[in-house]
Amino acid sequence: MLCVFVLVQFQFEVAESARQRNAKEWTDSEMDDWADHFIRSAENTFSYQWSLEAFALDLRAPTIVDVELVVVDVTEESLSSTEHVFTAIVTRGSKERPQTFDKQRKPQVQLRETDVSLKPSHGGEGLAQRLTDHEIAHCLGLSHPRCQDEDLYCYGDPKTAEGQSVTGLGATVTQKDYVVFAEIMGEITPTKSWRVRSETFRSQEPRPFRYMKIPGPKPDRLPGPARSHGLPLHRHTRHHRKH
Ligand SMILES: [Zn+2]
Repeated sequence: MLCVFVLVQFQFEVAESARQRNAKEWTDSEMDDWADHFIRSAENTFSYQWSLEAFALDLRAPTIVDVELVVVDVTEESLSSTEHVFTAIVTRGSKERPQTFDKQRKPQVQLRETDVSLKPSHGGEGLAQRLTDHEIAHCLGLSHPRCQDEDLYCYGDPKTAEGQSVTGLGATVTQKDYVVFAEIMGEITPTKSWRVRSETFRSQEPRPFRYMKIPGPKPDRLPGPARSHGLPLHRHTRHHRKH
């Protein structure tokens, strides 16, 4: 199994216009709930959607690898100074559409409080999307199906699979969206050629995948999967952004 870690540092703020309308500040439990919702949704959306396979030269059975996405909520200053941490700025009362971009080589994701909910897509003809999942796709290096811009054309035809994908206007993770994980396997094992298996994981006999979990590089502080086991959340101080 391939565990892909996405490190995110959350920052919560209130839009100035909303503050003037007496919007409340974020409470600790609201921030924890929001981050938890974001993490669970991203992990569930991107994990175990497709399998990767590599054939050996002697044509033995292919090696099959499943993918688990683990979103790590980074709260330590030491970690947040590396350029591999995405800063997710969550703004209450903002009307700006979410965005993922590099700010002085520090990747940032700008989100509204409501973006963690499943909502009808703009121009999506009945499609719904959780925009936090769409932005995580950008964090993984994925572009819109047709082009990188924000034109509606770039998101794909909502009547087709690409338009209905999480990188388009919908919520499904397509085979093409998984190519990035095949590329990661290619970097780890350069002698093998990896591709995304054409049958989905879900079309196969269900496998109890939890027991196969491999601890990540920092097993002492792995918040991702532990949350799925109903363990209480670790309380910590969150970063309020001040202007
Ligand atoms: Zn986008």
